[in-house]
Amino acid sequence: MPKAADCGRDPSVKRLEGVSALISGGASGVGRATAHRFAEEGAARITLFDQDASRIADVADVAAELAGIGTEPRTVVGDVANPPDCQRAVDEAVRGDGRLDVLVSNAGADSIHDFLELELDEWYRIMDINLTASFVLGQAAARAMVAAGNGGTILYTASISGVAASTGDAHYGVSKAGIISLVKTMAIELVGHNITVNCVSPGPLDTPMSLALLGSEEAMQAARESWPIVPMNRLGSPTEIAGTYAYLASADGAYTTGQNIIVDGGMTTNVFPVADELQ
Ligand code: NAD
Repeated sequence: MPKAADCGRDPSVKRLEGVSALISGGASGVGRATAHRFAEEGAARITLFDQDASRIADVADVAAELAGIGTEPRTVVGDVANPPDCQRAVDEAVRGDGRLDVLVSNAGADSIHDFLELELDEWYRIMDINLTASFVLGQAAARAMVAAGNGGTILYTASISGVAASTGDAHYGVSKAGIISLVKTMAIELVGHNITVNCVSPGPLDTPMSLALLGSEEAMQAARESWPIVPMNRLGSPTEIAGTYAYLASADGAYTTGQNIIVDGGMTTNVFPVADELQ
């Protein structure tokens, strides 16, 4: 059985030396793992942008971890769905030397509602956090990158729910499909400024968001041990998404733009498991 690629990275490989990065949702899951990975790969400064009181302690923990690796941590507590907070996060990321090399716009929210029951307020809530914030934060970051004149990389966490249907996920799926579309236009419009724009679409991950959706640690443990809908039969690790971001943010990803990189253990590739059906 394939195992998560949590270990085995060559610590001498430092593809992000000197980089200034801003990561939304940096207190947990994918954002936290990405902050770690960027620090390990030599990032000079990482600004963590996460929400209100419930995450303040987590943001402080991650900031301390980054400082321990040798990266300057900065923190911004705010709501990605509030445009002034997004601008504040970019302002904090560039404070001092004007540099913002990488944005990872990753904060997101999900909820499960049957299409027939889905309330308009919930539709707007998910759109605001997942899609409108992607535009607002991405635009603010791109403007800062253009002003600095050094190019840059803008990365988004989308989802396989943005490329295929998940029941109960109409609002979430549309918000993530919107990110995949946004990335394409941004990539073409910003290419002249030497800014690349891509998104990563994870499959099911071992993060607190999934725990909240599955409802119990027992259900999570069962999913960790076996998740047959995924050909690799396991949840993905946030470190596996972080690794993809490190590639895209580094010179290794310099010729990649406008793409949606699916990292899902083969889940969306397995359209119709004929042999399983016939057994
Ligand atoms: P997580 O809950 O561990 O982390 C999400 C982080 O975003 C949290 O720290 C949370 O406080 C922050 N956040 C949420 N709403 C915010 C807001 N309004 N303002 C500021 N910060 C906010 O979850 P995760 O699994 O690491 O999720 C990261 C991204 O991955 C999300 O965009 C999610 O949609 C996407 N994703 C997750 C899965 C999965 O299975 N967990 C699969 C595909 C895509």
